[in-house]
Amino acid sequence: MSDASKSLNFLEELIEADLASGTHGGRVLTRFPPEPNGYLHIGHAKSICLNFGLGLKYGGGTNLRFDDTNPTKEEQEYVDAIEADVRWLGFDWKAVLFASDYFQTMYDYAEFLITRGKAYVCDLTEAEIRDYRGNFHVPGKDSPYRDRPVEENLDFFRRMKAGEFPEGAKVLRAKIDMQSGNMNLRDPLLYRIRHAEHHRTGAAWCLYPMYDYAHPVEDALEGVTHSICTLEFEDHRPLYDWVLEQDVEEQFFKRPLPKQFEFARLNLTYTVMSKRRLLELVKEGHVKGWDDPRMSTISGLRRRGYTPAAVRAFAEKVGVARRAALSEVALLEGAIREDLEKAAPRRMAVLRPLKVTITNLAEGEAHELTLANHPDEGFGTRQVTFTRDLYIERDDFEEVPPKKWFRLAPGAEVRLKGACLIRCEEVVKDASGQVVELRCTWDPASLGGDAPDGRKVKGTLHWVSAVHAVNAEVRLYDRLFTAEDPMDTPEGGDWRASLNPASLEVLTEARLEPSLADAKPGDRFQFERLGYFCADPDSKPGAPVFNRTVALKDSWVKAEAKG
Ligand code: ATP
Ligand code: MG
Repeated sequence: MSDASKSLNFLEELIEADLASGTHGGRVLTRFPPEPNGYLHIGHAKSICLNFGLGLKYGGGTNLRFDDTNPTKEEQEYVDAIEADVRWLGFDWKAVLFASDYFQTMYDYAEFLITRGKAYVCDLTEAEIRDYRGNFHVPGKDSPYRDRPVEENLDFFRRMKAGEFPEGAKVLRAKIDMQSGNMNLRDPLLYRIRHAEHHRTGAAWCLYPMYDYAHPVEDALEGVTHSICTLEFEDHRPLYDWVLEQDVEEQFFKRPLPKQFEFARLNLTYTVMSKRRLLELVKEGHVKGWDDPRMSTISGLRRRGYTPAAVRAFAEKVGVARRAALSEVALLEGAIREDLEKAAPRRMAVLRPLKVTITNLAEGEAHELTLANHPDEGFGTRQVTFTRDLYIERDDFEEVPPKKWFRLAPGAEVRLKGACLIRCEEVVKDASGQVVELRCTWDPASLGGDAPDGRKVKGTLHWVSAVHAVNAEVRLYDRLFTAEDPMDTPEGGDWRASLNPASLEVLTEARLEPSLADAKPGDRFQFERLGYFCADPDSKPGAPVFNRTVALKDSWVKAEAKG
């Protein structure tokens, strides 16, 4: 084995083996098949990176296919959002396709199965079907309709299509094996009646295919070579193969037939990740929408300030495995930190302002300072103005400082980033005893940062000039759930129980350096000492709104170690 092949994941190994043996004539075509019943989440991002990544690596491309076989839950809004998310992640599809485009072929193939005695119309109720199916320990019983003559099956199936029967009255089932050890093979449903408008086919159909029937047919019609899905479908694979293999004369599907492969789905700590749950969070108002920055959706991550590169790097780091695991959200946060450390310009912003007056600086006296935008000189510089009236962070002052406090305190001296040294001479309080102003003096000899006598000043604080600063709203986010796995509740428990009531903190008094006044939605910065922030679409010119993407360090590591 060469060094290069050692680092392949198991899917790459499978594909390379197929390429070597010429299984698909040297072709690789993957697909990403979302159901348009919600917005995509980080788990889908993993699947997108995997499928599109393989399509790119082996040159065959990837189809974006909407699995729109369930008319009651699907909407155009979701189709549009999914396309936008895939593009944002940096991928381009070979074709956009819709399962609904194959409804006629799927129907024709179902008639074919009926004529070959491989499918029958069953009149049992849903509950009876469940009962007849048995369970893992109890073998199934044949449906009394199992041996209906072909002509009768065809007639009923056509009349089901014509809309003669109400929902639930009849279904089409595959005739496989009611004794099978694999429950999926106990005469699974192929079609059911749904009198519902479909977002693309309207009222043309009242008969809709089941996923296990539709999916292999879609893959085969498109010439997909490797159909990659998550592990829950492992037991469905024999059915996937069965559906396609009935086409013995190769009337419907080109050979070789597609093959299904499974990998472990991504689960992430402190969040939920199923479209159904995410929809509930939106509908019940626990979040502001699908793109709320606390959501695990791709659109939420985007609004939060994540970059496509960080999401892709995370997917790469998580890897592809066959064993289910819960990935740490800290890994995702690490990926965005790593990206923004390199890519985000530095700025100064004061989130909870405390007024500072430099008493030995004249009113109107101003010093223009040049600050580097980034440790990498390529980012250039910007001007900030040092004046008599400033703001610093309220947290950076303690009237009675603890040991090893290097920030501001009565009589203490600190450095203002890029400006000079100041000393706190007087603390001004209001009637309630709250500190409202610090009166300080500056050392003019330290302009630029340090005093010529070389005296040691450890603390460096960020600051803004009061007259120059722009007011802003800043939104700080914490985990949406306090439980590592919110779905892991005690019997009868509600997954909402661990929703974090403090997942959003809105600061409306923030003061930013003036260069941030016209930040455009999506612009990302490091606010010195505070973290990475991204301008929100709610921003207006001169009135920015920022989301904290992630703090500079993982504060939970500390909190958990202490607690
Ligand atoms: P959900 O329950 O969130 O709706 P789903 O699997 O039903 O998930 P689909 O729209 O059917 O959602 O999924 C499209 C593709 O994304 C499928 O191939 C599916 O396997 C994959 N996928 C969905 N969730 C995850 C996940 N958590 N990790 C990896 N892949 C996922
Ligand atoms: Mg689904």
